[in-house]
Amino acid sequence: MARKLRVLHAAGEAVPLAKTGGLADVVGSLPRALVENNTDARIVIPGYKVALEAAKKLGRVKVHPQQMHIEAGGHVHQVGVAEIILNKVRYYMLVCPELYERDGLYGPVPNEDYDDNARRYSVFAKAVLALPTFIKWVPHIIHAHDWQAGLIPPLLERGFGNDLPATRCVFSIHNIAYQGTMWHFDMKLAGLDWALFNHMQLEHNGQFNYLKAGVVFADRVTTVSRRYADEILTPEFGAGLEEVLQHHHYKVSGIHNGIDTQVWDPENDPEIAMPFSAKDLSGKKDCALALRKELGLVTDTKACLVGVISRLVEQKGLDLVLETVEPYVLSGRMQLVVLGSGDPVLEHGFHQLAASHPGWVTFWRGYNEGLSHRIEAGSDIFLMPSRFEPCGLNQMYSMRYGTLPIVRYTGGLADTVTDVLVDNGTGFTFGPADVGYFSSAIDRALGLFEHYPKEWAAAQVRAMAVDNSWQHVSQEYEELYRELVFL
Ligand code: ADP
Repeated sequence: MARKLRVLHAAGEAVPLAKTGGLADVVGSLPRALVENNTDARIVIPGYKVALEAAKKLGRVKVHPQQMHIEAGGHVHQVGVAEIILNKVRYYMLVCPELYERDGLYGPVPNEDYDDNARRYSVFAKAVLALPTFIKWVPHIIHAHDWQAGLIPPLLERGFGNDLPATRCVFSIHNIAYQGTMWHFDMKLAGLDWALFNHMQLEHNGQFNYLKAGVVFADRVTTVSRRYADEILTPEFGAGLEEVLQHHHYKVSGIHNGIDTQVWDPENDPEIAMPFSAKDLSGKKDCALALRKELGLVTDTKACLVGVISRLVEQKGLDLVLETVEPYVLSGRMQLVVLGSGDPVLEHGFHQLAASHPGWVTFWRGYNEGLSHRIEAGSDIFLMPSRFEPCGLNQMYSMRYGTLPIVRYTGGLADTVTDVLVDNGTGFTFGPADVGYFSSAIDRALGLFEHYPKEWAAAQVRAMAVDNSWQHVSQEYEELYRELVFL
């Protein structure tokens, strides 16, 4: 039998303790799946105020009596360790009130940074490397996620983790748009040799770049889909780091995210009107009727019910939806449900569209977890015309609920949705982000829906059979870890 792997995941956030986005879902879910597959996977995050409070509510928190002494730029921080086991996974929180116990995670409000983030995540990286000796548990692999953990690979490689000579480092990029770019003098906080501050290593456009540091010094780099791993090698998607990634191409690979198949389970979802399965799809019709009633849509229609759940930002390509759908609605072939918030211009566009077509288009502005389940369950089609998409989750939720996705062929969307034109397709894909290509994908989808119900149902069954669970996906990570440590 293979020996048990020990993997420490280090990140700026992890569910259920601290979350600002999808990163937290991955960092919380992947270790759980690894533990179920007999890997000793643990998680370390900063001891934010929200994390410490959430932990107290969720279980028994053990606080280590000693502290680690972590130096940064001449100042020594006392860093304590609080620990809790949740869903069989051990979480460590690095407790340092002057750095982490604040109202926000990365800044006082979303999209604003704290002035001392360079120090906060420099100390975090050093404390992560000091942790194994402190807790007397040495991992084979440290898996560092995104810029917040970007200094772990160079510090490990340069011998900061003196007690970790055999530990290897995997670094994952969840969204290359966020790089953690710091003032060059912040190099002093990291204590790394100034000789490394050059354009092949830590420097980028005159700044100290934490994400680049992770990419350059890690043993392996992963991103959240195969296609995104290729895309970030190009100027269009690389956010300025494409040449760095090209240089390190040999160690970059993509593994798409999994989904929580317990939370997203049409056979057992407390949020939806009627359970259903691939064997018996009849409950899906009840879900559609209930959704139409809930949102005030006309119910006596054979129109295709189309859903959108999204942050309303340029990345998601929803301007294409605004430009494309009206003729389908006017001809009575489509009803549209949109859930989301964000860019005021897009919000205004969806408000206008809904106001012009009462009973046929609804726009629910805001965030609503329950409604997102009901839209997935009740819709026939889901739209995701993203300009770029590192992985994307909703297309996978849609397939699990027999809702065929129409997606742009990019990033994780390209990896997870196969066009019905191809054998065993599970959705519809289109190429350029352009109204013509998008509407021809909609034409194909509506044509199949309206005239070929048997083929439609067969595609639904295929989509529902795709296994995107973390149990399945985590095996790819395990293989990668084992390659690195010859276990
Ligand atoms: P991104 O992380 O770029 O926003 P993903 O598709 O990877 O896109 O993940 C988005 C997640 O957030 C999904 O779980 C989706 O259901 C959820 N979500 C987005 N907007 C809303 C909303 N308005 N209400 C409920 N859930 C939402």
